[in-house]
Amino acid sequence: MKKRIAIVGAGIAGLAVARTVQDFADVAVFEKSRGLGGRMAQRRREDYAFDHGAQYFSVRGRDFAKVINDAEKAGAVARWPSSISTFPARDFAMAQSSAGQDRYTGVPGMSSLAAYLATGLEIRREFEVSTLERGEAGWQLRPLNKEKTGVVIGPFDFVVCATPAPQVLRLMPTDFSGQETLESVRMSGCFTLMIGDVERRRLPFQAARIDHPILSWVAANDTKPGRTSTLSLTVHSRNDWAEAHLEADRDWIRQTMLAALSEVLGMDFSDAAWIDLHRWRYANVENAAGKDYLWDEKLNLAACGDWCLGNRVEAAFDSGRQLGAAIRRWAERE
Ligand code: FAD
Repeated sequence: MKKRIAIVGAGIAGLAVARTVQDFADVAVFEKSRGLGGRMAQRRREDYAFDHGAQYFSVRGRDFAKVINDAEKAGAVARWPSSISTFPARDFAMAQSSAGQDRYTGVPGMSSLAAYLATGLEIRREFEVSTLERGEAGWQLRPLNKEKTGVVIGPFDFVVCATPAPQVLRLMPTDFSGQETLESVRMSGCFTLMIGDVERRRLPFQAARIDHPILSWVAANDTKPGRTSTLSLTVHSRNDWAEAHLEADRDWIRQTMLAALSEVLGMDFSDAAWIDLHRWRYANVENAAGKDYLWDEKLNLAACGDWCLGNRVEAAFDSGRQLGAAIRRWAERE
C-alpha cells in the first residue's frame, strides 16, 4: 500500500518534498495561507505588483538548475535583475553596478515558481496546522481554526514540517529528536515597505543593495518581466533593525523607513498613491542547522527548509529535495 505523507507548508521546501515523493506516495500538502510559495510572496494592489519577500534567486546546483530551466521554458520564471546597484552609506550616491551571474524571478509574480512546482499536487490551502496528534493508525493533523469542532485530518504514516524553524519547534512533539538542532537555528525578521505610484519616476536602477543603518534593499518590481508598468517599489529593512523594532508601532516603522529611503535616493515618496508595510517575523536565516534536513526515525517525523542549509531559495529547494529522496529510501525499506 502507498505511504500516506502529510507536508505542512507550501513554500519551496515543502513543494520540493512533495514533488519528489508524489510518484510513490499519497501526498497531501497543508498551507495556512491562501497563496503558495511562503516567503516567495507577491502582493497586488490596484495597478501595483510587489514581490514583498524574496526578490530574486540564483542557481548553483545541478538539480535546481534543471527545475529552473524547465520552469523558464514554461514561462514561470525569467532572468532578473540584469544588474544590482549599491548605495554606500557615506554619500548615498549610487556607486556601482554588478552584472553577469544568472539571477531569476517568478513570472508574473515571485510565487509563480511555487505554482509551477505545485502542478498536480493535492494542496489544502488556508489550513493552518495547530497540532500533530499521535494515534494508533498514524499521525493526525488538527487545524487551528476548526479546533473547537474536533475536526482532525489523517491518519498519515509520515509528517514533514516545512515551515521556518521556530514554527517547526512549536509543531513538533517535545520528544522529536531534532529539538536541540531546531533550538540552535536563528532566524531574523524584516520589514518590507511597498510603494506604488502611477507616476513613473525615473530611477537609475532595477535593484540596489543599500548600506544604511535602517535599510538594506530597494527594487523597482515593475522592471521585472511580465509586471505592471506602474512604479512598484519594494524596500527591505535591515534584519538587525527589524529585530530591534519588531513590536514597534507600524506607522512609526513606515514613516521611519520612508524618511530613510528619501535620504538614500534623494526622492520623496511620502505622497505616493499607495504605501503599505509588511512584517516578516522569520525572514532570514542567521544561523543554519548545517544539515540537509532533520529526521526522527522512531516518530516518522521530519523537517526541512532554508534554515537547514542557508539563507536562499535554492537552500530551501535542496533541503526539500534531499528529504524527499530520504523518504523514498524509507518507503522502499518499509
Ligand atoms: P517558507 O517560504 O517560509 O515556507 C513555509 C510555508 O509554511 C509558508 O507558506 C507558510 O505559510 C507555511 N506554514 C507555516 N506554518 C504553517 C502551519 N502551521 N500550517 C500550515 N502552513 C504553515 N532568498 C533568495 O534566494 N534571494 C532573495 O533575494 C531573498 N530575499 C528575501 C527577502 C525577504 C524579505 C525574505 C522574507 C526572504 C528572502 N529570501 C531570499 C529567502 C527565501 O525567501 C527563503 O529562503 C525561501 O523562500 C524559504 O522557503 P521555505 O520553503 O524554506 O520556507
